[in-house]
Amino acid sequence: RPHLELIDVSKRYGATAAVQGVSLSVAEGEFISLLGPSGSGKTTTLMMIAGFESVSGGHIRLGGTTVEELPPHERNIGMMFQNYALFPHMTVAQNIGFPLKVRHRPKSEIKAAVDRYLEMVGLSAHAHKRPAQLSGGQQQRVALARALVFEPRLLLLDEPLSALDKNLREQMQQELRRIHRQVGVTTIYVTHDQGEAMMLSDRIAVFNHGRIEQVGRPDEVYERP
Ligand code: ADP
Ligand code: ADP
Repeated sequence: RPHLELIDVSKRYGATAAVQGVSLSVAEGEFISLLGPSGSGKTTTLMMIAGFESVSGGHIRLGGTTVEELPPHERNIGMMFQNYALFPHMTVAQNIGFPLKVRHRPKSEIKAAVDRYLEMVGLSAHAHKRPAQLSGGQQQRVALARALVFEPRLLLLDEPLSALDKNLREQMQQELRRIHRQVGVTTIYVTHDQGEAMMLSDRIAVFNHGRIEQVGRPDEVYERP
């Protein structure tokens, strides 16, 4: 049974049909990219999965439960965007621990989890710095650790690497693959970069004009250049 299921999902903004009858099944632990040109409905689809946008039609099921009526905080989904939106006044450790703090987890559990995710993203030596003292790539790693620390059912990434330069982007792609293998969380990755989608994904869903045109493994969807 699929872990995430979109069933004939659509979204209208006034006269604009942003997403039109999208259906997609994602298996537990899968890494799938939503790939397509600007304006093709990728981000809107992600926002409906997250619960920050309502659906105009259709259903979203997560772990066998219908979630399209649930508010974001009841969906237990981790997210990371292009602008990492770290809390500037908090340390790296406090940023990573924040999702557990708002869930009222015990201090000892938060400390252990923060340690574990600091190590996973290679920032143990930077626990007490503020985000402004970190490089762009390091800030990105903090955002990733914060998105994973509460063991979400789903990880949603929207163009997370597009602000980085080419070398750093390629390094972060490798790191994302390693961390995905390690954590095994079902991941939805929005990008307009075909090479990035092919490098990272188990499968790619190709978006165009608010619809999915094709879904398959990278080698099924594109010939390697
Ligand atoms: P993508 O992520 O593929 O670039 P989007 O999902 O952002 O595409 O946008 C799909 C379509 O929906 C576009 O035509 C966009 O202009 C429109 N759209 C997105 N968000 C809004 C909004 N909040 N209000 C009105 N139109 C929107
Ligand atoms: P607070 O005063 O709110 O506890 P801290 O920065 O001391 O602020 O800690 C924030 C969270 O991160 C706490 O749960 C703490 O246990 C954990 N933490 C703080 N520093 C480290 C560190 N160097 N390594 C691992 N975890 C840390």
